[in-house]
This record gives sequence, structure tokens and C-alpha cells, in this order.
Amino acid sequence: MINMPKGTKDVLPQDSYKWQYVEKKAREVAKVFGALEIRTPTFEHTEVFLRGVGETTDIVNKEMYTFNDKGGRSITLKPEGTAGVVRSFVENGLANSALPAKLFYITQCFRYERPQAGRLREFHQFGVEFLGAKNADMDAEVILLAKSFIESVGIDKVSLYLNSIGCKDCRKTYQDALKEYLNAKHDKLCPLCQERLNKNPLRVLDCKNDDCKEITANAPKILDFICEDCSNHFEKVKELLTLAGVEYKINPNIVRGLDYYTRTVFEFVSENIGAQGTVCGGGRYDGLVAQLGGNDMPGIGFAVGIERILMLLENTKKQIENPNKIKVYFAPMGEEEGKKAFELASRLRQNGISADFDHMGRGIKSQFKYADKIGAAFVGVIGSDELTNGVVKMKDMAGGTETAVKFEEIIEFLK
Ligand code: ATP
Ligand code: MG
Repeated sequence: MINMPKGTKDVLPQDSYKWQYVEKKAREVAKVFGALEIRTPTFEHTEVFLRGVGETTDIVNKEMYTFNDKGGRSITLKPEGTAGVVRSFVENGLANSALPAKLFYITQCFRYERPQAGRLREFHQFGVEFLGAKNADMDAEVILLAKSFIESVGIDKVSLYLNSIGCKDCRKTYQDALKEYLNAKHDKLCPLCQERLNKNPLRVLDCKNDDCKEITANAPKILDFICEDCSNHFEKVKELLTLAGVEYKINPNIVRGLDYYTRTVFEFVSENIGAQGTVCGGGRYDGLVAQLGGNDMPGIGFAVGIERILMLLENTKKQIENPNKIKVYFAPMGEEEGKKAFELASRLRQNGISADFDHMGRGIKSQFKYADKIGAAFVGVIGSDELTNGVVKMKDMAGGTETAVKFEEIIEFLK
């Protein structure tokens, strides 16, 4: 036996309906917000992520699956969805059709991380990227979309945390103030943050180390530094969220920490799954399209981790109906009866009704056991009497009742 690589997971047939459920909800919510699906390759030129995620991030520094292909090109398996979507948006000239472009994706992502509950090396994201609009109503809309999705799946007790990281100009002033504050406490920071301090001080705010957290708790707050335009934008976002009845908390420590991320940043965090509680992260990135070679164009998006959504669903004990169960399983008692089962099952399938029958030549008792295992709603017994009378004895597996149904009335009966 060969085991799967660390940090990967099989989705087994008895669980795949849960994934289908979550994906269906994602598609439904995207649709009502007018977003269209985009599918981009699993791998990109490494450059896309260096520029699109940023060289000072954990993703680029430690987590990417990067290799040279046989042609000597540096290739990276996508660690997130945004960079590839923006690359595609630029390359395919989508800016020339209708703006804003409202795009969504469901994709697997690859990050070399320490695997634990809710943290895998291959995982999946549902995300949206809305490109072309700079107005605050777009920020509010994207946040509402994320919230609608989380709620429609059936998850509650999720809090929305909001922050603004300003623009290129006002962030500079803040960065200087933060640097000065952190420099005074340099020795108490974790080694990684000592490094971050020089390259990208904002990321220190994001550190999960307890000492660093204690230090950053009293650090200068970015909201005291943002310029009037950024401040007005943030006020408008908050006003619209309130108008929509959305509760939020301001968290000045949420940052994206890169030059091309701007203004609104947000997270949805669950109180239910501990350390891996962040189910969704998003924000505005008005400089990213240009960073990836396009025109100067605003954008905003988010990504939700599907595994974390499923974990929360398990925790809430919410029952998801499995729509994949067979409607009727025919249990024939002999060879002639078997032909009838084949014929009836074929006719039902042609009419879009799921049907199956014994393929193993089992006795009737084992056939019932199998039908029970696959969760068939009905078992249609066909013995010699039934064959003579032109009926199937339909046993309702939940209710236990038995009904003799004429061959030609089965479709009607099952509808
Ligand atoms: P974290 O702080 O948990 O590492 P992140 O900031 O790296 O998250 P993002 O890059 O914002 O996460 O990705 C968006 C979402 O994708 C996260 O909120 C989370 O739900 C999910 N996610 C991120 N990394 C993983 C992973 N390794 N395994 C499973 N889900 C993940
Ligand atoms: Mg991470």
C-alpha cells in the first residue's frame, strides 16, 4: 500500500455530497451577486506569485511548491487564487469588456505548511475578484457576498473583523511610526518579526507569537494615520454595512501588508475551530492589476477555505441531505426476473430517476443489506409471482410499507 502525501486528503464517496453541497451554495450565492466563474491553470510561472502575492509574505517565502519543469522554467502550483485570476484578466483583455468584472472561482491551492486540523498542503478555496470599481459600495458588496455564502451554508457564530490599511501614501507615514515603536522593542520580537521589521513592518501585526502579540497590542494604530480620502472610504463602507444590517468589529491588526493592497481588509473568524478559526480573508488591492502588467485598475476580493467551512459544518452538527442516494434498487429473485430488473432500471434512468439492481447474483437477504448500505429509498422486489402479474413489490425503506406497482406505472409512482 502506498500512502497519500502528508497534508493531502481524499474525499471519499460517502462524503463527496458535502463538498457538492458547499460548492453549490457558492455557485448560487455568486450567481445572485452577478459573478461569473473563471477557471485558471493549476500552475503558473512563478513570477505571477512573486509579483501577485508579494515577496515578503509567508506564502512566497516558505510555502510555495516551486520547481523547474523539463524545459527549465520555474513553475509554481497556485498557493491562492487571486494572482492567477488577475494574470488571466490582464492576458485576456477582460478589462475591454464590461466593467466591473465580477469573477469567482473554486480551486485547489497548494502550500507547504505544517499540516494540522484545518491546515493542509492541498486545500480548496472559493473566492471572488471584483475588478474595476473603486467605490465603497463594492467593498460592502464583496463583504456581503462572503457573509451570504457563510450563512447560506448554515454556519453561524462567525464574526466579521474589519480594518483599513490606507493607501500607498498614508501607509508610509504609519509604517514609519510603527517601525519606530517596534525598533524600541526589537529584542523582544520573535526572530521572524525582527526580519519583518525591516522588510515589511506591517506583517509584524499579523504574527501569532504571544510575545509579539503583546507588543503589537499597544502599537500605533493605522486608523489614526490614514488620509482623509481613505478615511472617508472606510466610513462609507461601514455605513453601508450598517445599512445592510451587518455587524462588524474593527481589528487594527488585520493587514495584508503589501504595497498593492489598499484600504479595506477583512476577515470572518469563527469562535468554533480554535487556532484555525479564520474561514475567510479578503480585501481591496487597487495596485495589483498594474503590478501584474495591466492598466491601473482597482479590485477587491476574498477567499474562503472550503475545508474550514466543512469543519465548522461538522461542528455545528448540521444535517446536510445527501441527494445522491439511489431512488430504487431492484432485487430480482432469478434470471428472468434479473432481465426485468435490467429493463426497468434502464427505463427509469432514461427518465432521470436513479435506479440500480443486483449485479452480484446475491440472495434476496444480501440484496436488501446492500440496498440499505447504499441508502436506496425503495427496494423493488421482483419474484416469479410479480413477473407473472406484471408488478414490482415496492418496499419503502424508511416507512416499511409495501406496494405492488405495475411495471408501466413505476415512473409515476416514484415521481
Ligand atoms: P492563516 O492565517 O490561517 O494561515 P492565511 O492568511 O494564510 O490563513 P489566506 O491566504 O487569506 O489565509 O487564505 C484564505 C483562506 O483560505 C483562509 O482564511 C483559510 O480559510 C484558508 N486556508 C489558508 N491556508 C490554508 C491551509 N493551509 N489549509 C486549509 N485552508 C487554508
Ligand atoms: Mg497562512
